[in-house]
Amino acid sequence: MQRRAFIRALLIGGGAALWTSCTSGAPPLITATASSTRPATPTRQATPASRLRRSPTPHPSPSPTVDVSAGVRAARRWFPVGQVIGTLPINRRIGGQPVGEGLVAEVEGRERVVAVTLNGEWTANVPRPAPSSADLPSEQLEQAQRELAAQGYGIDLRLEVAPSGEPVGVPETGGTLRRDPWGNLHELPVPADARPLVRWMGRDWVGGYARGDEWTPDLPTFIEGNEPQFAGTIMFTADDCHNPEETREFLTIVEEMGIPITLYPVTPNLWLYPDIWPEVLQAGHEIGYHTTLHSHGDWSQAYLEEDFTATEQVIHEVTGNMAYHIRTVRPPFGLYDYGGWQPWVESKGLTTAMWDRSVGWDAWERTILSYLEEYHSLILLAHPDPDDLAWLEQCRGFLEGLKGEYTYKTVSEALLSGSRPVPVEGIPAGWVG
Ligand SMILES: [Zn+2]
Repeated sequence: MQRRAFIRALLIGGGAALWTSCTSGAPPLITATASSTRPATPTRQATPASRLRRSPTPHPSPSPTVDVSAGVRAARRWFPVGQVIGTLPINRRIGGQPVGEGLVAEVEGRERVVAVTLNGEWTANVPRPAPSSADLPSEQLEQAQRELAAQGYGIDLRLEVAPSGEPVGVPETGGTLRRDPWGNLHELPVPADARPLVRWMGRDWVGGYARGDEWTPDLPTFIEGNEPQFAGTIMFTADDCHNPEETREFLTIVEEMGIPITLYPVTPNLWLYPDIWPEVLQAGHEIGYHTTLHSHGDWSQAYLEEDFTATEQVIHEVTGNMAYHIRTVRPPFGLYDYGGWQPWVESKGLTTAMWDRSVGWDAWERTILSYLEEYHSLILLAHPDPDDLAWLEQCRGFLEGLKGEYTYKTVSEALLSGSRPVPVEGIPAGWVG
C-alpha cells in the first residue's frame, strides 16, 4: 500500500492529538484529547496503561521560561479556558510556520492545546476554514471542522462538500482513520485505486474510501469471523454476563490463559454489577453492545439508537473511561436481519460480530479444529454460566494449545489489525512513553 504522505504527528495517551495544517496559510490546529481518556473519578483508572501509553508524569509541566499569560489571554477569546495544565514543546514547522510551544489547558472538561507560539508570539489554536472553502457553505464546513477537531481529527483533513451536499473530510494521509474502543486512532490503508474519505455517521467520523461518488467504510459492517482477513486469529466472545460471580470466574480463567476476549453483556448487567467493568477494560478486554432488552428482533432503528447511546453512557459511568467507544455490536440470538438492526449498524459505521462455534452447541475440540482447518479463523461464543465455565476448564489446555498457531484477539483488535499506529512525531519522549 502506497502512502502519499502520513499524518505528521499525533500524541495520544498522555493525551493530545497533534495535527498539522495542510492548507497553506492556515494556522495550526492542535487538538489535545487527553482528559477525554481521564477517568471521571480519581479512584478509577479504567483504560489499560499500555494502550494509553501513559508516562509516569502524564502532563506537561509549566515551563519557567515561558510566560503563558499572553497565551491564556489569546485563548480566552475562543475557549472557556479553565485550569492551565502546562506547556508542551513543539519546536517544528506547522503549515509552513515555526511553532515553538503549545499551551495546554482544560476546556469544558477536556484538555486542549488552546494556544501556540508562532514566531515567538502566542496565538489561539483555533481552526479556520481553508482558503479554498470560500465558495463552499462555510458555516457547514466550520461546523464540520469543529466536530472533526473535537473527535481528534485535525486539519490534516481537508474538508470538501460531497455531491449530496454533506461535508466530508479528505485525509491528507495514505489511509483513513479509525478509533479503537479505547479512543486511540489507527490509520488504515486505502485501496490503490481509491481515495480516503471520512463521513459523519451519526456518531463519529468514520474512515472509508471513495471511488467516484461511491463510498465504502474501511471496516466491514458485518463479520462472521471466517473472512480471509482474519486468518490466524481466534476471537473469543462472551455474551449476556447475567451472573457477576460467574462472569468474574470466566474472566479469571481467560486472564490466566492470557486471552483477551470481547464481552457482549446486556446493558442492565453493566449497571447492576458496576464493579466488574473497570477491570474488564483494564485487562484489555473489549465491551460491545448487546441491547438492554435482549428481545427477539423487534427493535426499531430508533430504539437501537437510543439504547446504544444509553449503553455507551453506562460504560462511561461504570468504567470511568469517557473515551471508550463501542466498536462492535452483536444482536441478541444473532438476529441481525430482523427489525432495523443491520441498516442501523451500517448507518453508524459499526460492525456486527456474529460467531462460528458456540459453546454448548457446536464447540468441541473436533469441531473447532475442523472449522479452523477450513477457514483459518474463528469467532467462538460462550456465556459465563456454570455449563460454559465447566467447558472452559475442560477445554483450557486445548484452547491454550491453539496459541501456537493462532493469535487470540478482541474483535476490534482483529478488525484493526491491518492498520498501523499513527506515527508520532515531535512529541517529547517522556510524554508518550
Ligand atoms: Zn445474548
